[in-house]
Amino acid sequence: REALVVGGGAREHALVWGLKKSGCDVYSTPGNAGICQDATCFPSQGPDDVIAYFGTRRPLTVIGPEAPLAAGWSDALRAAGFPVVGPSAKAARLESSKRLAKEVMRQYDIPTAGARAAHHPEELWTMIAESRHWPMVLKQSGLAQGKGVVVAPDPEHAREVLNVWSSQDIWRDGVLFEEFLSGWELSVQVVTNGRQYVWLPTARDYKRLTPEAQSPNTGGMGAVAPIPLDAALTGEINRMILDPIMTYLSEGDLLYRGVLYAGLMITAEGPKVLEFNVRLGDPETQVVVPLVDVDWWDFWYRVSQGDVPALPEPRQAAVAVVMAARGYPVHPQRGMRIVLGPEAEDTQVFHAGTGRDGDGFVSQGGRVLTVSGWAKTLPEARAKAYQRVSQIDFPDSYIRPDIGEL
Ligand code: ATP
Repeated sequence: REALVVGGGAREHALVWGLKKSGCDVYSTPGNAGICQDATCFPSQGPDDVIAYFGTRRPLTVIGPEAPLAAGWSDALRAAGFPVVGPSAKAARLESSKRLAKEVMRQYDIPTAGARAAHHPEELWTMIAESRHWPMVLKQSGLAQGKGVVVAPDPEHAREVLNVWSSQDIWRDGVLFEEFLSGWELSVQVVTNGRQYVWLPTARDYKRLTPEAQSPNTGGMGAVAPIPLDAALTGEINRMILDPIMTYLSEGDLLYRGVLYAGLMITAEGPKVLEFNVRLGDPETQVVVPLVDVDWWDFWYRVSQGDVPALPEPRQAAVAVVMAARGYPVHPQRGMRIVLGPEAEDTQVFHAGTGRDGDGFVSQGGRVLTVSGWAKTLPEARAKAYQRVSQIDFPDSYIRPDIGEL
């Protein structure tokens, strides 16, 4: 049994870790310094390099990030005979075009924030001038690694954002000017074949840089799972959001073998969609993988074949804390030496932006490590994660102190 994980973040490290536990040989491209301790890493520019690397072998392939999915890696590898976990590029447009996702939601009556698309800076200027409701949300339609969304409290702030964005190459697919929703956020992830689906444990992502409500969005500073939901809310999410998306995928004959992620705001009027992703969340994966007790190779292989395998209920809770470099998300400082310290039971350090420095590690990115801890209860899991963080010597790192606080 062999598996390949495409990507090089902490999400992919968690996938590699899960697959390795199932006793298979794991490969990764490009991987990172942590992944390369658990898997054989190799560089690649595209699916052709992967096909060449494996010769006549066809390992199970799990694609982590959105960019290779949008670029058609899953189609090319599937056509070459690889069992692939990841939707087709056509289906991946649900994430890579927020404008398309809005149209789909309108067409299928899926509750979401009202929005208009601007295709020119002047159009957005007019929308800002005419809006009577604030805050509003400005959203680049295309992929922006979690950094293309700004909640603007007032027109002045919105104009500042527009000034920065007006010269960027983002206007062809447009910018959404979107109604602000209040409530609490929930990440729902399902494995699906585009017709049926099965829920992974529910999670919550801590998107903001600091606990303050006005602080900037990041790729995610931490996560907890599971989030208990009552049956009525689960039913509503199935009926109003997931079932209609299945109808969209099947009516459009869109090939889907993988994970669909719905980022939801649970408002006073019920659940509304903030965004769809066509892959696992980061850092949600770093709490979900440790919680689910399955043979991961077998699980992902079945998903690649169009099965939607049932999952055991998680019997524990997990908390993941992201350690970021100082200056993240704007100008993360690189080149800090990291000493991981002793391992501890029921914790795991997943690498993202790390490189090798002799026999140690050095920071090379914004989000550098995710530290996960799991236990019978959420407070115990939280204590384990933060205890492990405190053992890591990473000068000038930044963490949020409130992940998993009740
Ligand atoms: P990701 O990194 O998860 O892919 P993204 O950059 O694609 O995120 P969204 O998930 O659409 O963007 O938005 C990021 C965050 O901005 C949300 O998690 C939420 O906190 C906030 N947000 C987005 N849209 C709204 C809205 N309409 N009302 C209130 N908050 C919003």
